[in-house]
This record gives sequence, C-alpha cells and structure tokens, in this order.
Amino acid sequence: MKDISADDLENNIPLVTRKNYQRKVTIGDIELSKEKITIMAGPCTVESKAQIMDIAKNVKELGAKILRAGVFKPLTFPYGDPLARPDDGKNELWDPKKILSREEQDKAAEIRLGYLKEAGAKYNLPVISEILCADSLEMMIEYVDMFQIGYRHMFNMDLIEALSGTDKPIMIKRHYGESLRSLLGVAEHFEARGKHNFVFCERGIAVPHTHNPNSRAVIDIQAIAVLNEYAPSVLIFADPSHSTFRRRYVPAIAKAAIAAGADGLLVEVHFDPDRAWVDPLNAINYGEFDKLMKEIKGIAKVLGK
Ligand code: PEP
Ligand code: MN
Repeated sequence: MKDISADDLENNIPLVTRKNYQRKVTIGDIELSKEKITIMAGPCTVESKAQIMDIAKNVKELGAKILRAGVFKPLTFPYGDPLARPDDGKNELWDPKKILSREEQDKAAEIRLGYLKEAGAKYNLPVISEILCADSLEMMIEYVDMFQIGYRHMFNMDLIEALSGTDKPIMIKRHYGESLRSLLGVAEHFEARGKHNFVFCERGIAVPHTHNPNSRAVIDIQAIAVLNEYAPSVLIFADPSHSTFRRRYVPAIAKAAIAAGADGLLVEVHFDPDRAWVDPLNAINYGEFDKLMKEIKGIAKVLGK
C-alpha cells in the first residue's frame, strides 16, 4: 500500500492536512473540540420509542454527549432487517425473511427517526445516524444533527457529493481495508467541495488473524497518532463496539484508543444487550457503560482533557 508522500501533501491532500487550521464542527449546540473527550452512545438500531427514550435518558445521565442510533442498517445478510420488525412489540407479526421495498423502508425509517429526534430533544442530546444513500438525505435531514458514513460507504461519491451540500456535520468511518492515505483522500473530496465539518472514526482494520471471535477488526492505535500528526485539525473518534464485536473487549479497547489520542468514542449501549435487535454481541449495558465512562474520565484527566 502506498504511503502518504510529500507529493500527496502538496497536491492530493493539501486541505485536510493543513496545520494551524481551526476546524469548526458543531453538532446541535455542542461544539466539538480536541481539548475534551466526547462520547457518542446508543443502540445499534432504534427498536421502539420506549427503547430509545430509556437509552437516551441513561446514557445522558452517565455522561454521553451525543445519542447515536442506526435506522437504515447496512446488513451483511438480507434477512432480519430491523425496519421490517414491528416497533410496537408485536413480534408475532414479524417475518424475518421479508424484504422491504424502498418505500416501505423509508416509511419505517422515518417513524424511527422521529423517535430518535424526540429522544434527543427530550434529553438534550444531539443525534447521529447512518445514511446509506443520497436519496435518503432530504428525509433524514429533518431528523438528525449529524450523519454517519459507515465503513462500507467510505468512498461513495454520491453520498460525498450530496452531504457536501448540507450544513450538518459528518462522521466518516474508515473501511477496515482502506489506508489512511485513502481516508485522507475522502476527506479531501469533502474539503474540495467546501465541506469542512467532518470527523473521522477509526473502527479497526482487517489483518490475517482478524475476523474471528477473539480478534475481529483491530483498532489501529497507530492510525490515531498518525491522523493527529497529518490532519491535526480533524477530530478522531474510535469505535470499540464494531471493531471488537465482543462486549467483553469493548472497555479495554475504548480506553486504549483514548489514551492514544482519540478525541471521542462511539459505543453501542443497550439496557438488555443480549436482546438487542442488531449487534447483540457488542452492546454493553448501563452498568458497564457507567464503569467505562468513569475510567475514561480518569484517562482524560491524565491527558489534560
Ligand atoms: C454502526 O455504526 O452501527 C455500523 C453498522 O458500523 P460499521 O459501518 O462500522 O459496521
Ligand atoms: Mn451496530
């Protein structure tokens, strides 16, 4: 893989690698800053109004600053789409094999985005959710304060172009097989279109011994240091939930990422992780999140954040 060269810095990624640039990223009424640690937390997917309300209340009390929940999920397999599942607990009506039409997906997603927005408003938490295609932008923009580009869509030019036309901030997740040079290239696509309010999310890389239960995607600790060096104005979040994919490893990796210089975390939290509709293996419960938040606070203090 090609390394970042002097020629890249001059000709390919001059904007994202600017030094002494004050990048302003505001989500809702929170201005993100490298001077402090910002935690985004929430369930993998919005399951019901009661679920997102309860999780919002608890993560807020425990110190999260941003509520993160998916609605449109980039599922590995076509079955079990949470958008096809009744959000009123009537699971007997659920057919996990049902493939929704685009209209049905949008309709179900809009209802759940409404719950997310309501939960955010009630607990004074700005909200972030993943966007899968540019066609959803017009609908989603009414509900979210920030957009997540998932690792699968890191280089989706339609999304990059559409999101460049919005004021709302963006979190770009690095694909587990993409280099930092490519990630900076994506960022430069935004910069060149006049879009500057984005952050990065490190969610792990695939190496020969990964993609197994003990080591799924390895959070690239050095990447955090490298990005802080090459793109010092861009905030870096780390995602210990989707990288480890096992809740027992989430706290250790979360702490390591913060200690290495990450500016924040994306953590999946659920009141009953084993029963989460999506990603039940990686969500942590309120008690585990509470403990993690206290430990992160301790590390932040040592770092002067
Ligand atoms: C997620 O954040 O819920 C998610 C599906 O993430 P990723 O795109 O990193 O798998
Ligand atoms: Mn998830």
